[in-house]
Amino acid sequence: MSQKENKVLLIYTGGTIGMGRNPFTGALEPLDFNHLRDNVPEMKYIKATIDIYQFEQPIDSSDIDPTTWARLVKIINENYQTYAGFVILHGTDTMAYTASALSFMLENLTKPVILTGSQLPIGQLRTDGKENLVTSIELASLTDDRGRALIPEVCIYFSGKVLRGNRATKQNADEFNAFDTFNYPHLCEAGVNFTFHSHHILTPDFSKPMTPHFDLNPNIMVFSLFPGIQENVVRQLIDAPELKGIVLRSYGSGNAPQQPWLIRLLREATKRGVSVVNISQCISGRVEMGRYNTGYQLKDAGVISGYDSTVEAATTKLMYLYAKYDDINMIRKLMNESIAGEISKTVEYLSEDLQ
Ligand code: ASP
Repeated sequence: MSQKENKVLLIYTGGTIGMGRNPFTGALEPLDFNHLRDNVPEMKYIKATIDIYQFEQPIDSSDIDPTTWARLVKIINENYQTYAGFVILHGTDTMAYTASALSFMLENLTKPVILTGSQLPIGQLRTDGKENLVTSIELASLTDDRGRALIPEVCIYFSGKVLRGNRATKQNADEFNAFDTFNYPHLCEAGVNFTFHSHHILTPDFSKPMTPHFDLNPNIMVFSLFPGIQENVVRQLIDAPELKGIVLRSYGSGNAPQQPWLIRLLREATKRGVSVVNISQCISGRVEMGRYNTGYQLKDAGVISGYDSTVEAATTKLMYLYAKYDDINMIRKLMNESIAGEISKTVEYLSEDLQ
């Protein structure tokens, strides 16, 4: 494992990690990178050269959008040859969306892109920001004897864990342990030593270049089922002419109420080229539409299984595929496959494949 000489680009977008309290309102607001650097003098002891790219106006991650994701892809692409790895400082609220989007937009990624942030601002006494920042930079700088990255993936580092970005979900608004991957093992634990779980880490083709993608189609809707859901409200949403994809958050293993109107609306939507992807409202587990009749009827209406995908991954994957392809059959086929490690299909679930 080597770390010396390697260069890391630290991209500061904003988030709690770099925030300070507004003396008039008492609310936290983003500050520039100098504030962050002044509070982490330890950065100079890291055995890697660190360059900084700062957003002119750091943002709360609630304001992140596809334009910002394209900007991040551009920064990484333009600096790809110069750096061993990239660390993105980002608010935690939408970090899992950004990580998921980047995992699709940076095709055949051969270097680490590690997103991190904190629950407490870096200037506060008990901040979790210092450890998250320092460890992320160390991880991004690591290469093996052949100069290859140890974690060539878009990941989230938080509270001692390296997580695959497109499997991660923000699980806690208060605790330092803010993220986890409920349907995928951790990629690495950072305790006294780093313990890498290499067999869970993606292996890109190191002989091929990384291919950046900048376009996304955000005409997607996330729609959660609940008992008592009303036809007129759902119809207004589904009938929107711009709509391209629906992430349907169903019950349990992919079940929905047996209301004829609901199945009819979903069938009409799939017929006009809208992809409806079935994701469970459960925090862990997977969709298996053949298990109950209440799931089978969705499959029969043309709904695609999202398997064990997170909502964040399914949403950004639809945005990515609708920007890249016009062919709906190609989009539906790729929604059913793992393109960046975002879903696991075990043998018993292969029967869920599109026929
Ligand atoms: N609201 C903040 C953000 O997402 C929260 C955080 O950084 O933890 O930017």
